[in-house]
Amino acid sequence: MPRPMLEIVGLEKKFGDTQVLRNIDLRVREGELVFVIGPSGSGKSTMLRCCNRLEEPTSGAILIDGMDIVGCNTRALNRMRLKVGMVFQGFHLYSHMNAVRNVMLAQVKALGRSRDEARERALEMLDRVGLRHRAEAMPSELSGGQQQRVAIARALALDPKVMLFDEPTSALDPELVGSVLAVMKDLKASGMTMLVVSHEMGFAREAADRVVFMDGGVVVEEGAPEAIFSNPQAERTRAFLARVR
Ligand code: ADP
Ligand code: MG
Repeated sequence: MPRPMLEIVGLEKKFGDTQVLRNIDLRVREGELVFVIGPSGSGKSTMLRCCNRLEEPTSGAILIDGMDIVGCNTRALNRMRLKVGMVFQGFHLYSHMNAVRNVMLAQVKALGRSRDEARERALEMLDRVGLRHRAEAMPSELSGGQQQRVAIARALALDPKVMLFDEPTSALDPELVGSVLAVMKDLKASGMTMLVVSHEMGFAREAADRVVFMDGGVVVEEGAPEAIFSNPQAERTRAFLARVR
């Protein structure tokens, strides 16, 4: 069985007195795509952000390929953050840099690659998301779907061990969603380990190995997509799925 690439163990998160995550246990094995669904405010983004300590967990452990990102010192943290690629709803590209420079930047700054090496890798990753021909385009000249694919290329260029996606298609016009999901499907096919928060249930049915339903800061249930969508066990899961369908 493939080894766990991302393990969340007993994760708790409080903002002041408000407990947002309670005793979250979640494991993503190498090459798995785990899909997270749940109502707004259930803690999905907070959980993802804890995985590279954009949020500081209150307690618990998060292991990236066996190394705990919660207990480690700043130097180890900076190194481990590079192993966790993150793609958000908004693309956060630098508007004054063209696509290829956006994909080069962190490679040079964080990994210390030479500009030539970074450029070559950037073009390779842009090719992978179907945008090599747009390498010199500025973000403003790209559609939202293309900008999100540049953001995915930027994350991939750092050679992450796991990719986290937080509602990657929620800001896109409907006709642009498919191109981003297609890139994610390719990634999965190439063996990338992925944790995806999304409302694209059709995509989950096609591409996810497991679906996790969260509500009120806890994992309510998890299982194969077919089991969760067709035969949810918990009343809360049933109610949620009835609302989003
Ligand atoms: P989801 O992504 O599932 O919609 P979030 O993780 O964004 O949920 O939010 C979970 C809960 O945590 C919400 O009640 C939200 O208001 C709260 N929350 C998120 N970030 C903060 C913060 N920085 N300070 C205080 N409360 C927060
Ligand atoms: Mg969210």
